[in-house]
Amino acid sequence: MPGNSKSSEQERRSATGASSAGARGEAEDIAIIGGGIIGICAATLLCEAGRSVTVFDRTGICEETSSGNAAAFAFSDVLPLAHKGMIRQLPKWLADPLGPLTIPPAYLPKLLPWLIRFWRAGAARHHEASLAAQAGMMKLAEAEWMALLDRSGTRPMLRKDGSLEFYESEAEFRASLPGWAERERFGIGFRHVEGEEMAALQPGLSPRFVKGTFVPGWKTVADPKLLGKSIWAYAEKLGARFEHARVARIEADAKGASIVLADGSRRTAKTLLITAGAWSHLLARDLGDSIPLETERGYNTTLPVSAFDVKRQLIFSGHGFVITPLETGLRVGGAVELGGIERPPNFARSKAMLEKAKRFLPGLDPSGGREWMGFRPSLPDSLPVIGASRAPNVYYAFGHGHLGLTQSAATGRLIRDLVLGQTPPLDLAPFRPQRF
Ligand SMILES: Cc1cc2nc3c(=O)[nH]c(=O)nc-3n(C[C@H](O)[C@H](O)[C@H](O)COP(=O)(O)OP(=O)(O)OC[C@H]3O[C@@H](n4cnc5c(N)ncnc54)[C@H](O)[C@@H]3O)c2cc1C
Repeated sequence: MPGNSKSSEQERRSATGASSAGARGEAEDIAIIGGGIIGICAATLLCEAGRSVTVFDRTGICEETSSGNAAAFAFSDVLPLAHKGMIRQLPKWLADPLGPLTIPPAYLPKLLPWLIRFWRAGAARHHEASLAAQAGMMKLAEAEWMALLDRSGTRPMLRKDGSLEFYESEAEFRASLPGWAERERFGIGFRHVEGEEMAALQPGLSPRFVKGTFVPGWKTVADPKLLGKSIWAYAEKLGARFEHARVARIEADAKGASIVLADGSRRTAKTLLITAGAWSHLLARDLGDSIPLETERGYNTTLPVSAFDVKRQLIFSGHGFVITPLETGLRVGGAVELGGIERPPNFARSKAMLEKAKRFLPGLDPSGGREWMGFRPSLPDSLPVIGASRAPNVYYAFGHGHLGLTQSAATGRLIRDLVLGQTPPLDLAPFRPQRF
């Protein structure tokens, strides 16, 4: 991968803080808290615009949720989650403790306000506005990613194989049709398939699937963690710096922002961006912003590449998981566990999806896998927060839920425009941090 080992080396080197302005006692120009895919895309676009940027992260570059996701550039996934048939499936899914959606009973009281907002976001009167906002974001997302892949030399990591979604009955297929009609309105191409055509798109599939939908424009990347590291290597060439540190607290006033690190030391910056994924609301709270961020925890298992010849991303919507062929393995997973950021992972969920994958692709070898859990940072209306804090000189970019990889380059572009005082190419009202 372009620059990958160099990037790790530079991460280690800058982990000492030796190159950061803060460590030299000077104010940073722009400080970014969170080195996931959102933070590094923003850092990259700001560096390209000639700004000086330091990223602070407690683990590293794309080492948390951005490392293990399903690798999809889901540009055609414009339906907000609350509308995607999820509410319809809720009773069935919740009845299965290892099914596509779980809420640990002890967490329910804490989750309830978010769930009520999620439910309301699904109401018909919010539908059109959310759909239009998401469709506009996705158009920008595709344009910005394609351009960034070229500028950073990472285009060889792009895969244009499309996706294939499956249905186990005519009834399930018919229930999916309104959603496909919505996508058609926004110019998203797809083809319903069955029989030999479906078998040719993915040989070795169980006969339990009677129909499918092929989306030719769906794209994936060779490996999301390696893509993130490669984008960061490009940002470093443009001058981006990394400081390995946990941020304990933030403050901001008209002169700039102050970051208090876990070791008690302080960094200052003229402009601060918070891209701390599922932990962002904890920092926003320091500035008086109350943002209803939750986490949809997701699970997967990455098998050796040889586990099965999967031709493209396979989507089992009725079961809430996907199978993605990566350069580094075959990734089986998804699911949503609305369980907060504290409780330990329950890898029985990864195993349950793997067991289903074996049934759906009978020739799959389920041995030798690596289990993983990640925290999707999710807002109740399925749209991210992108915009200015109530505190001066501070911006937020978090809450991308299931679509953070897909929307990261566009988010970087929008944040760059806001920081530089330029007019963004999208109306940012639907993404305002103060909309709740
Ligand atoms: C199973 C699964 C599958 C997914 N599949 C896809 C997909 O196919 N396509 C897609 O587009 N999206 C997908 N997603 C969603 C995507 O992974 C996320 O939306 C995205 O990674 C979020 O990126 P982020 O930069 O906001 O957060 P993160 O990647 O979590 O980065 C946040 C960073 O902030 C740091 N941080 C937090 N608090 C502090 C602090 N106080 N001090 C210092 N550092 C801090 C963390 O260490 C972390 O590195 C999937 C998610 C999951 C879980």
